[in-house]
Amino acid sequence: MTSYADFYRRSIEQRDEFWAEQAQLIDWHTPPQTICNYSNPPFAKWYEGGTTNLCHNAVDRHLKDRANQTALIWVSTETDQETTYTFRELHAEVQRMAATLISMGVGKGDRVLIYMPMIAEAAFAMLACTRIGALHSVVFGGFASGSLATRIEDAEPKVIVSADAGSRGGKSVAYKPLLDEAIKLSKHKPGAVLLVDRGMVPMILEAGRDHLWATEREKNFNAQVPCEWVDATHPSYTLYTSGTTGKPKGVQRDTGGYAVALAASMKHIFEGKPGETYFSTSDIGWVVGHSYIVYGPLIAGMSTIMYEGLPIRPDGGIWWQLVEKYKVTVMFSAPTAVRVLKKQDPAYLSKYDLSSLRALYLAGEPLDEPTAQWISQGLNGKPIIDNYWQTETGWPILTVCSGVEPMATKFGSPGKAVYGFNVKLLDDQTGEELTEPNQKGVVAIEGPLPPGCMQTVWRDDARFVNTYWSSVPNKLVYSTFDWGIKDKDGYYFILGRTDDVINVAGHRLGTREIEEAISGHPNIAEVAVVGVADNLKGQVAMAFAVLKDASQMDDHAAMLKLEGEVMKVVDASLGAVARPSRVRFVTALPKTRSGKLLRRAVQAVCEGRDPGDLTTMEDPAALQQIKGLVVVGG
Ligand code: AMP
Repeated sequence: MTSYADFYRRSIEQRDEFWAEQAQLIDWHTPPQTICNYSNPPFAKWYEGGTTNLCHNAVDRHLKDRANQTALIWVSTETDQETTYTFRELHAEVQRMAATLISMGVGKGDRVLIYMPMIAEAAFAMLACTRIGALHSVVFGGFASGSLATRIEDAEPKVIVSADAGSRGGKSVAYKPLLDEAIKLSKHKPGAVLLVDRGMVPMILEAGRDHLWATEREKNFNAQVPCEWVDATHPSYTLYTSGTTGKPKGVQRDTGGYAVALAASMKHIFEGKPGETYFSTSDIGWVVGHSYIVYGPLIAGMSTIMYEGLPIRPDGGIWWQLVEKYKVTVMFSAPTAVRVLKKQDPAYLSKYDLSSLRALYLAGEPLDEPTAQWISQGLNGKPIIDNYWQTETGWPILTVCSGVEPMATKFGSPGKAVYGFNVKLLDDQTGEELTEPNQKGVVAIEGPLPPGCMQTVWRDDARFVNTYWSSVPNKLVYSTFDWGIKDKDGYYFILGRTDDVINVAGHRLGTREIEEAISGHPNIAEVAVVGVADNLKGQVAMAFAVLKDASQMDDHAAMLKLEGEVMKVVDASLGAVARPSRVRFVTALPKTRSGKLLRRAVQAVCEGRDPGDLTTMEDPAALQQIKGLVVVGG
């Protein structure tokens, strides 16, 4: 067996040879000519000259050996439905969807925006897009019209695929009115909208634009749509993620590199084997849903579970019941979900036969030790594998690669640098590499980024370079915008973001986006949003706002009402995911003399920490006022 150290070294020092080998894990229509073209840094082109198709690798490729094996298991505890699709059935559904999209004018390179709940049709739509060389742009179903409109405008989709409603905790959440509103708000209008009618909320259809999936599916029932062989560098999708500015970035991913990266990760990290079942509790609206609900497991020939519902409904044993029923071998979730389960009766963990499960992978936010310990005990010592990555990278940057060599885990650490990622800790002021153990620096990646990572920001190469590759002085390196340290054994520990991005229950949100939404309220003059540590969600957003008309500031009831109104503004614009947990009204915000908002000082005060050096602060009373308003831990 190769040691991980050697495996890793080869991935960096003999990069092309290493990735040429990994490329054999997928099917190519034409094999690549060049493994990595890095002649125009930081833009890396992987597998130039090669042609392939993501949908072929996820679906068609398996028809030869496993046509009758289950590919997709859709479980909804919201609607009490469970449907399984074999690879053959999935193939047919995807072709029906692909034919429908083609009939609506979608071709290679066109965008299709998918705004859907966790239903099987969402996966069909994604696969249908990559099948025909169109790019999907999935928008998380929890986002509201404002967020959706920004994304429609940026992606300019020819078609939008959506549904009448999603459901949460047994309550229907209508999607169609939010979509209609978003289309109204957006300058770009899609040519057609394809709607799955789940019979949950009546829909008003716009003649000529809106079409029902049931009708289209029937029309295209026997459709045969061959896979479009695209260049390895052809973009497969865009996925929006939050950053420092209010405008989300469209992370653009390629085809060949992504397929190889996922196939390799299924082998070296997740150890998922064909015929087994993979259960990721994420949502297709997030990167984990793209990589490890839809593409990764299917590329590996596994059955994948798509789950609509809460982890505690009908009871806190539902996920374990699914593990038993479908003999799940690999499970992927987020620390917040485990913290939710931790509040349930621990007997749920022993009630079901979990012997099939080999490991639980957790990602998306820091994994705290008590949570890791609790679930590790509950699963009788099965490995709990923390893995650290980002929407931008598409697959893990740090973890333990047990598929290469059994590796110990350390509580609090996601692990070592993953093969292909030339991870460095850098001094944020000088850009110098920190080589001594336990020094705190910015987690950076030296180019080229390995296959599967973002190619660029959709239609904005300059933003890609300026945002990600220009923040460390004197060096062209990719910044993750996370602080980290590395111990003497090469294990990294992530210490939080260096920018204004916050992480609420594993969902990444930009404080600027929330501030912009709040500013939409007519009585808000100025607002600061910060992330504050929270026992359950990791972080929650807290807002401090200055009013235009402060005449009622002393009226407690009026301020409570206003707080509710501000929250509604956020719900309507961004969605409830972004709603701050509290909105407090102040007379001024703490700023430097040059007018820069001191978010970090506000955050420190909210968390009961020392706000640090405040000599540059313009108005110390502003911070005192905030201090008086927050009850730490309350
Ligand atoms: P996203 O792009 O939504 O996946 O968010 C990525 C960010 O989430 C990272 O930059 C980190 O700040 C955080 N993150 C993801 N995984 C982990 C992890 N395993 N440990 C600590 N932070 C994490």
